[in-house]
Amino acid sequence: MVASLLAADYPGEIATPTPKALIHLVQRRYGVQVSYSTAWRGKKEAADDVRVTPEEGFRLMYWYMFMLEKMNPDTVSYVEVDEEHKFKYLFFALGASIEGFRVMRKVIILDGTHLKTAYGGVLLVATTQDPDHHHYPLAFGVVDGENNESWFWFLEKLKSLIPYGPEIVFVSDRNFSLLRAIAMLYPLSHHGHCIYHLSQNVKGKVIGVNKAICAKKFRQCARAYTEAEFLQLYCDFSSTYPSARLYLHEHTEIKHWARCYFPGEKYNLDTSNAVESINGVLENARNYSLLQMIDAIIEKMIKWFAKHRKASAEISTAQKLVPFVEKELHKTCKEAKLLVVNELNCYRLEYSVIGSDGLQYVVNLRSKTCSCKQFDIEKYPCVHAVAAAREAKKEADPEIQLHDLCSKYYWIDLWVLTYSRTIYLVPNSCQWIVPEETMKRLILPPDYDVKQGRRQEKRYASAGEDRDKGGKKKSKKSKKPTGTSEWLDNDGDQN
Ligand SMILES: [Zn+2]
Repeated sequence: MVASLLAADYPGEIATPTPKALIHLVQRRYGVQVSYSTAWRGKKEAADDVRVTPEEGFRLMYWYMFMLEKMNPDTVSYVEVDEEHKFKYLFFALGASIEGFRVMRKVIILDGTHLKTAYGGVLLVATTQDPDHHHYPLAFGVVDGENNESWFWFLEKLKSLIPYGPEIVFVSDRNFSLLRAIAMLYPLSHHGHCIYHLSQNVKGKVIGVNKAICAKKFRQCARAYTEAEFLQLYCDFSSTYPSARLYLHEHTEIKHWARCYFPGEKYNLDTSNAVESINGVLENARNYSLLQMIDAIIEKMIKWFAKHRKASAEISTAQKLVPFVEKELHKTCKEAKLLVVNELNCYRLEYSVIGSDGLQYVVNLRSKTCSCKQFDIEKYPCVHAVAAAREAKKEADPEIQLHDLCSKYYWIDLWVLTYSRTIYLVPNSCQWIVPEETMKRLILPPDYDVKQGRRQEKRYASAGEDRDKGGKKKSKKSKKPTGTSEWLDNDGDQN
């Protein structure tokens, strides 16, 4: 009854009302009261009818991936089976996002989360952030768990799409298998620990003090722009929390978490929570079969691409920078007007600026640097650089424009390109046309640990993460980072 009601009211849709809402719906429509489990079963049945059952999902994997690639040119997918033709691993990346990433900041965030499907398994996600601070997923994988073999396999496939070099930066938790695979496959790239995860480890090492403040103070140290600022903050932190300092000393290398020592270009990105936000978006989809989950991922990406494509198209041609940076510079300009600027060298465009804190900063507009280091790291002008640019415009170089001082990744021209390609859903299986050799390739469901997959709903903790006595990871929903990562607090739909 529930399934047929859904088929009639929500034809072809996987995302249907919650079981609780369905109980009311059935009551109103038919005057019959159904239990929660009946409503849940009906919801699942309806979802299976839209796509296929979990077993069929594995059987049709090659067919589905063929259609995904056909609908979305340049999409790449890999399916790995064992010697008995049982499903082992899946990797896919849409052509649209592979192409978009070419004109984006080269910071890749990696994470894994457990699936709630009948066969369990783990969803691996490689994502990034567009210059306007929105989710931008790059690639997805489905594997048995986060281990040496699975992370190596996933990153090897990713490497075939994204050329490796020193410009590529990874941000993730400290999962040993993940770090090992990065070191082996991307030896020239830099890796940053997720500051949020590390702050959770650190606060677990202190007793008799306010743990939340300890985590916050650690994040402040990690996010210091200059070495001098860091040393001062870290000295205070170390004397207040000696056990936390000892933990950091014994388990981490400072360059992997302190922004001022990080050797690569990480911009504002320092937490892997972007992936967890994506997982939040896929919360319901993770209950369905694999193909339904992939449908839900693609559906969400279609929405994001359409939304941001439209937003970028609606911006006036006079505006050169993405809205986030435009807004930041707008705020900065007000403060910059009040600062005292002295020219140091008109050929080299060097200026001395007295900041609102009374300290002196040296700005070089040619090399796009400031001694506060914010300009160097974020790649758009800090308040001192804006003040210097105002002076330069008056005196030395009337052609100087603020957008020329920003990384090209923040230019609207490039932002538009990231969303230029359309993403298409895979049609219903009755509309598939698959070549004979693909039709012959069948896959059996895997031997994943079903019980484990069901019990462990969230991702495994990385090195040092706290768990409660029941073994379940502590909820962090209400404890997300603030400041530069505030965008992560929003539901994925908002982005
Ligand atoms: Zn500055």
